[in-house]
Amino acid sequence: VTERRRKHWGWGWEDEQPDRAGLEAMVPLVQERLGFEVERVEEPIAIGDIDLAPPRLRPPEALAGFVSDERHARLSHAMGKAYRDVVRGFRGIYERTPDLVATPADEDDLVRMLEWCDQRHLAVIPYGGGTSVVGGVEPRVGRGYRGTVTIDLGRLDRVVEVDEPSMAARIQAGATGPGLETQLAERGLTLRHFPQSFEYSTLGGWIATRAGGHFATLHTHIDDLVESVRALTPAGVWESRRLPGSGAGPSPDRMLIGSEGILGLITEAWVRVRPRPVHKVSCVVEFDGFREGAEAVRALSQSGLNPANCRLLDPLEAETTGAGDGTAALLIIGFESAFGPVDGPMAQATECAEDHRGRAGPVRGHGAGGDGSSGGPGDAGDPAASWRSAFLQAPYLRDSLVALGVLSETFESAVTWDRFGEFHSIVMEAARRAVADVVDAPADGPGAPRVSCRFTHVYPDGPAPYFTVLAPARRGSEVEQWDEIKAAVSEALISAGGTITHHHAVGRDHRPWYDLQRPDRFAEALTAAKQAVDPAGLMNPGVLVDPA
Ligand SMILES: Cc1cc2nc3c(=O)[nH]c(=O)nc-3n(C[C@H](O)[C@H](O)[C@H](O)COP(=O)(O)OP(=O)(O)OC[C@H]3O[C@@H](n4cnc5c(N)ncnc54)[C@H](O)[C@@H]3O)c2cc1C
Repeated sequence: VTERRRKHWGWGWEDEQPDRAGLEAMVPLVQERLGFEVERVEEPIAIGDIDLAPPRLRPPEALAGFVSDERHARLSHAMGKAYRDVVRGFRGIYERTPDLVATPADEDDLVRMLEWCDQRHLAVIPYGGGTSVVGGVEPRVGRGYRGTVTIDLGRLDRVVEVDEPSMAARIQAGATGPGLETQLAERGLTLRHFPQSFEYSTLGGWIATRAGGHFATLHTHIDDLVESVRALTPAGVWESRRLPGSGAGPSPDRMLIGSEGILGLITEAWVRVRPRPVHKVSCVVEFDGFREGAEAVRALSQSGLNPANCRLLDPLEAETTGAGDGTAALLIIGFESAFGPVDGPMAQATECAEDHRGRAGPVRGHGAGGDGSSGGPGDAGDPAASWRSAFLQAPYLRDSLVALGVLSETFESAVTWDRFGEFHSIVMEAARRAVADVVDAPADGPGAPRVSCRFTHVYPDGPAPYFTVLAPARRGSEVEQWDEIKAAVSEALISAGGTITHHHAVGRDHRPWYDLQRPDRFAEALTAAKQAVDPAGLMNPGVLVDPA
């Protein structure tokens, strides 16, 4: 029996990668749906053919049971899952790999591992599901270390304890979305944090990156669901008190949430859970254009209705995902509750959208889908269901698009409503120009690159716009192509008043723009905090701040 393994380069399991015939079957679809010519189908490099430098370290005997220098372990932990990572993995371009990969079973193993790394002066990369899209798990650590060890928390995957009176659960950091939801479901509970990467990303990763999940309004980030956090730093344990709220000084949790592995390893957290929703309705509203839809979303975000879902797709995004025909912007509104029907707020929300010249479709009821994705009997012919299915399939599809020579990547931000109109124009224009500069394709008409926008989350004071780029790639130069586009759009995001990231985190790839955005005094304070808990600067060097 062969052990089932994750792909070393892309999304999902090795046995889920389509073979050549499967990829060839996709060619007409790409040509029809996107209008791009596919010259040829490529296949990923076999893992045995990848050049891999020998590790600079040997697993110590005392830790050998959970530390590996094996090829698949090192390659599959070498990068995250951004487009540039997937392309490099597909072609076997591994610039840096960890020397060793540790898979500790408990905190004792973790403590011993950290001590060994400290004694040897080894850089430590905390690793949850490896779905980072910002170079957060890539061992680009500089020269000051004798080696790099990636610590994969995947075996710490249990819901340890549930406090039902307080509706909170103590969950280990390596639990993936499906893993923790399955365990919580046994008690009729749910966390309802569903990032698109839900299938493989972990609670520890969500906390470390301040991930954005299912709720489009109100509890948008994992921050709102965290009650307390436990972490191991090189200087010792950091554990906060469980409290429903506290005004006692700056929050220790707020410091760990978003720390991206630079302060220590998050080992577990108490999180706020809830009963599983049984009342769910959704409605799709059409608008003549994205800006008209945005005005309706602004009103909705300030109405106090707080829909669970409030995703606005521009016409191109709607067409690409199969939710629309490209002639109208679509607003997907959803409400859910464990306690009572939500038809009332839905009626108010559709009225609000219609007041802003929206054309509301039918309101549909849905089943209590476990991952927020599966719908119910009302799903057939539902544009919202088409969009949801495209959303969940996107990471798998992206791997195939690499094989077919299609550049496919996203970038995201947030900005206040007063600046949104100008921001949207500037960023769309910068993206279109940057794509046109690096892509050999007509500017308009069939086969032209696609730059589209949607809102992933919305607040009373502004939206979180999310942009998708699809274009014919120049084979072999995809990374350089994307890096040029990314640099241009990042400049535009920052200069137009947005954030370099609303939920994808900073990692190594967003550092130059993050450094422009955050106050310098804050960077000094964070560096000093890191120095206090990680005096040797071992933890994820190069992310957020440089070690002192
Ligand atoms: C297809 C796709 C869709 C995505 N959709 C979303 C989305 O909807 N919302 C969203 O927010 N993000 C999304 N992301 C980005 C990514 O999934 C998130 O950043 C996620 O939170 C990372 O979790 P992970 O467990 O995979 O962490 P990893 O990728 O393993 O690590 C991410 C960072 O956190 C650190 N880290 C991980 N675990 C720990 C720990 N236990 N202690 C300390 N540090 C740790 C790592 O060192 C690294 O810096 C998406 C990514 C992909 C590829």
